[in-house]
Amino acid sequence: MSDQPQETFKFRAEINQLLSLIINTFYSNKDVFLRELISNASDACDKIRYESLTNKEALSANPDLEIRIVPDKANKILHIIDSGIGMTKAGLINNLGTIANSGTKAFMEAIQAGADISMIGQFGVGFYSAYLVAQNVVVTSKHNDDEQYIWESAAGDSFSIREDTEGERLGRGTKISLYLKEDQLEYLEEHKLKDLIKKHSEFIAYPIKLQIEKTVEKEIEDEEEEEEEKKEDEEKKEDEEKKEGDEEKKEDDEPKVEDAEKDKPKKKRTIKEVTQEFEQVNKTQAIWMRKPEEVTKEEYAAFYKQISNDWEEHLAVNHFNFEGSLEFRAILFTPRRAPFDMFETRKKNTNVKLYVRRVLIMEECDDIIPEYLGFVRGVVDSEDLPLNISRETLQQNRIMKVIKKNIVKKCIEMFTNIADNKEDYKTFYDAFAKNLKLGIHEDSDNRAKLSELLRYYSTKSSNEYVSLKEYVSRMKENQKVIYYITGESKEAVEQSPFLERLRRKDLEVLFMTDPIDEYAVQQLKEYDGKKLVCVTKEGLELEETEEEKKRREELKAANENLCKVMKEILGEKVEKVVVSNRVVDSPCVLVTNEYGWSANMERIMKAQALRDASSFSYMASKKTMEINPEHPIISELRKKCENPTDPTLKDLVYMLYETSLLTSGFSLEDTSSFASRIHRMIKLGLSLDDDETSTDLPPLENADTSAEASGEMEEVD
Ligand code: ADP
Repeated sequence: MSDQPQETFKFRAEINQLLSLIINTFYSNKDVFLRELISNASDACDKIRYESLTNKEALSANPDLEIRIVPDKANKILHIIDSGIGMTKAGLINNLGTIANSGTKAFMEAIQAGADISMIGQFGVGFYSAYLVAQNVVVTSKHNDDEQYIWESAAGDSFSIREDTEGERLGRGTKISLYLKEDQLEYLEEHKLKDLIKKHSEFIAYPIKLQIEKTVEKEIEDEEEEEEEKKEDEEKKEDEEKKEGDEEKKEDDEPKVEDAEKDKPKKKRTIKEVTQEFEQVNKTQAIWMRKPEEVTKEEYAAFYKQISNDWEEHLAVNHFNFEGSLEFRAILFTPRRAPFDMFETRKKNTNVKLYVRRVLIMEECDDIIPEYLGFVRGVVDSEDLPLNISRETLQQNRIMKVIKKNIVKKCIEMFTNIADNKEDYKTFYDAFAKNLKLGIHEDSDNRAKLSELLRYYSTKSSNEYVSLKEYVSRMKENQKVIYYITGESKEAVEQSPFLERLRRKDLEVLFMTDPIDEYAVQQLKEYDGKKLVCVTKEGLELEETEEEKKRREELKAANENLCKVMKEILGEKVEKVVVSNRVVDSPCVLVTNEYGWSANMERIMKAQALRDASSFSYMASKKTMEINPEHPIISELRKKCENPTDPTLKDLVYMLYETSLLTSGFSLEDTSSFASRIHRMIKLGLSLDDDETSTDLPPLENADTSAEASGEMEEVD
């Protein structure tokens, strides 16, 4: 033990919880720890190699970049040693105990929700998986900028740090020593370690060398040990028969007579000698350099899992070699599900690694893939970029622009191929539809191609997705546009009064129920030359027969007065009141301006814009009230408004307005007056006296007489 002073630190609270979760959760598959620690070692090698591109001295303390696995059976310790960048004292303290990233909590939540511990790497806390198998972990590390330090913790709530003045010098790098739990000693077995490395770390770019014990039979001349030999001679003779059996193979190769002749005069004997040597277990050839047709599905899956830390296989892969004005290779993967932190605004979220001639230049290169494709995992290896390219110059680089453009193209190609299988495409779409729609919104160059990937439920297909192409293929003969409705959920829009006439006319309407649809559709505008028309907005033109047209004109004229009176009552609440062509069963609806926000958009913006109500009222679009003149409520109202002084008129019109707010997807502006109006109706229904009503709105008195009054006016209609 070193006599250097030891400092003790408390783990951050979340990490403490994480550790006890790792230690106490019953979890039988502990293999994951090795892949996590090797992956960290590989990252550390990447970092120092990258540094060495601009600073040749960086590697000098330990020039060979490699990872060594040393099982020490006698002491029950497994060492994982890398010659990577190492950690300074501060690095050890921060990285292994005091700084928690967002993944720490997210991982614990995921576990509570039934996720698997093997997902740990995805959350950026892979190091702690060491405690799945170790009761005590010692990390010895040497960074170019600091002395060699030792971090140690037996979990619990603290770890210690001390300078390492006596131990074996690392030069540069990190040695993780796992003091294995008594029931985890299988991780010292050569075959177990080899299997695990082959399975999970095959595509690590640095040699992974496993220390193995070799027992060799060695022949030695026995002059100094003649005494002993004499003693043994007797035993030897007894053993002779057995040995003959053992050496049968030798006998096959060499004639017996010669063998005997050799042995006798030289007086040699064989002894068993145990030596330790390192054997490289992985192939370090970059998988993307191989021909796509020669890589198996299993190899892609293993590579994908390694670069993504995903525990599931990929959903799709696109491996290609681009040759033209420039050359690059890439393997792109579509995962089966979205990462836990997708769309987290704090950090940029892209997941494609950039290599230049096999050297990793950037772990997450934002300049190579747009953010909306941030979920795509993979590698890109350029032959043309300079090795010492900096993050700043990358953005300006022409080569990067060409690469990016082609990566997007290849991603879309990969998604299009997924669509060949309905089930796979549903998995894909449920996970990444938002990304595609964000792409529609942002990426004007690829908008048309991305629109082919969109899928919606519709009035004619409420359980299976419809593509725009399918929609168009079954449009009615004289249908010119694509109809859609936006709203909070499929269930909500399915009941919408806006669909009444379209249903009756057997016109299909797409359901857009994702908030981002509102944004995407604003940009998309049309598909295949057909305009996308929102059925909750003004300007909905439906094909009408001459007869229907005539009828509507008549109704318009007959309801002119009603519309006028209603507008007067509602005042600024509505822009105008008109006769509708879209409702069949409902008395009225509220539509918004064609170029303004839909009701759904207003709902979304309200949720977002609470902090700034002023901009909201400015942006919220004016509503037009559309009435259904053939609805009995409207007919009665029409009669009532012949007598504009009717005291119930105002209440009724208000109530119609408020209920249409609700059925049209808006929210109520003034819930308390809505409630008092309803209460007055209830009282009326229960024949209660309305004296106690304490509201300034006109009471619903004389309802009976007004009904009589409307009866009198029947002839007018
Ligand atoms: P992640 O590797 O996903 O960031 P980990 O919990 O596995 O999360 O590791 C935390 C940090 O500790 C790493 O980001 C790295 O900075 C540091 N680290 C871990 N292992 C090593 C290593 N072998 N060499 C250098 N640094 C390491």
